[in-house]
Amino acid sequence: MTSESGRKKKRLVTEYATTMCHGCGASGKRRFRHGDVVFEDAPEPCPECGGAVMIDKIFGEILE
Ligand SMILES: [Zn+2]
Repeated sequence: MTSESGRKKKRLVTEYATTMCHGCGASGKRRFRHGDVVFEDAPEPCPECGGAVMIDKIFGEILE
């Protein structure tokens, strides 16, 4: 039973959100922002067409 080592290692998790435009279908990826909710509209407009974009997925990437 020597599995204690490593358990307390601190990991830095960076959260990302992928977005999809309602208008042109362009997908994007950016850092997660407070208030982002999956399947809700993102606060910023589509960079391609200026239309509304939806948060498609929120996920975290672990940086070690
Ligand atoms: Zn668009």
